[in-house]
Amino acid sequence: TMDYGPAPEADGEARAWLKRHDATFGHFIAGKFAAPASGKHLMTIEPATGKTLAKLAQGIAADVEAAVGAARSAQSSWAKLGGHGRARHLYALARMLQRHARLFAVLEAIDNGKPIRETRDLDVPLAARHFLYHAGWAQLQEREFVDHVPVGVIGQIIPWNFPLLMLAWKIAPALATGNTVVLKPAEFTSLTALLFAELAAEAGLPAGVLNVVTGDGATGALLVENPGVDKIAFTGSTEVGRLIRQSTAGTGKSLTLELGGKSPFIVFDDADIDGAVEGVVDAIWFNQGQVCCAGSRLLLQEGIAETFRKRLIRRMETLRVGPPLDKAIDMGAVVAPVQLERIKALVETGVKEGAEKYQAPGPIPAEGCFYPPTLLWNVHPSSTVAIEEIFGPVLVAMTFRTPDEAVMLANNTRYGLAASVWSETIGLALDIAPKLQAGVVWVNATNLFDASVGFGGYRESGFGREGGREGLYEYLKPKAWSGRKARAKVPPPSPAASH
Ligand code: NAD
Repeated sequence: TMDYGPAPEADGEARAWLKRHDATFGHFIAGKFAAPASGKHLMTIEPATGKTLAKLAQGIAADVEAAVGAARSAQSSWAKLGGHGRARHLYALARMLQRHARLFAVLEAIDNGKPIRETRDLDVPLAARHFLYHAGWAQLQEREFVDHVPVGVIGQIIPWNFPLLMLAWKIAPALATGNTVVLKPAEFTSLTALLFAELAAEAGLPAGVLNVVTGDGATGALLVENPGVDKIAFTGSTEVGRLIRQSTAGTGKSLTLELGGKSPFIVFDDADIDGAVEGVVDAIWFNQGQVCCAGSRLLLQEGIAETFRKRLIRRMETLRVGPPLDKAIDMGAVVAPVQLERIKALVETGVKEGAEKYQAPGPIPAEGCFYPPTLLWNVHPSSTVAIEEIFGPVLVAMTFRTPDEAVMLANNTRYGLAASVWSETIGLALDIAPKLQAGVVWVNATNLFDASVGFGGYRESGFGREGGREGLYEYLKPKAWSGRKARAKVPPPSPAASH
């Protein structure tokens, strides 16, 4: 460990919670923990140490069936509560997150390996913000979404990079609009979802409204195939998204997919270079680069490329990699050994294909899944690392001459999630932004998220939006009502009354 910075965040409360459960968890179905039908568990490790952290239930068809059944039984009364009734629950969930912010932040950092500074300042507050925002919409539902009804029972499958935040993105809009949920968190990082479900029940969320079934991809596939599910909302890899699209085709299920990315980070000659360098740090080294919209392709205009490279390398020298609970670190651990190996292999391929590699020289812990901030310079646009999503702290850099060439390079990808444009000439930035094929474009900024802004991709980054008004429509079905008014039953006049 390192000897700088403030004391690490104390993890006593999170460890006590794990101990209370004997570090062994069932699924969370109909308001309480339920032992896995198979009796089987998966191990989950602490990425920063490699030590076993907890045992998670491996969900099989019977567990999925029970969870979908619980969600089905709860759905009509949840819908009948009305927007105002549901808003009260969503506000309670937001307050619950705020009250236990520290516990969630520490547990997430231990389980995922990401820095406590990020979980404390970003993951947990943004998750709470998502519930507050959607509570507001729930209150407006009867007025703003006339002729719309809930979709029903939603199966939601999420990845490991922002476990709690992705949970919030998924369940807040679904619950706000009167649906009930079966959530399948990622097998590497299911703990904050289980904690959330447990505390949500304590905060009064009716049983069956939110169910959590844990397990690996096979459990996810069972949820996708379950005939009692009305819609699947998935965030994860493009590969698995494709499988899910195939298996839901020809069924009545609706589907939204939030998939991978290889987002361009374009810097023009006239950009504020120091600002853009800080932007790069945030774009690719935030959350160890395990961000779907990470600015992972640096496109530099030739005139500043050399200056930019020098300043970026100087900045990399100051980045600190270390244990997630150390408040002074910039980067923690990658989520799991399998991801670490994948990153290493891709970087080797990049170098073989001609890139120059530069890595931050700072010390990194010997144990655990740590990888240094890495820059691959002089990458050819057709090289593997320029095309494939690395999903780690690895930036690939290329140069361009003209704005047209920048647009061409930026769009030369099968993805289309995000893009970032850096220039002090607003006219240039506003000319480029609409030409970029991406669900979100940031100008002189990167990785800005807000519950009120719909987030989602183009092309192989998926379809559907999360957040904003458009995110709510993903959980509602239009239903037109027409026909004549039923005739009032007026008794015929009695003969005595007629004149
Ligand atoms: P992944 O696709 O391997 O796993 C995601 C989830 O799907 C996990 O819960 C996993 O258990 C489950 N799963 C795996 N196989 C399945 C199957 N056959 N059927 C159903 N479920 C299955 O992805 P990952 O490695 O956990 O996450 C990284 C990926 O997620 C990256 O590609 C990243 O870009 C993407 N991502 C996208 C967004 C976005 O909003 N677009 C956000 C975060 C992450």
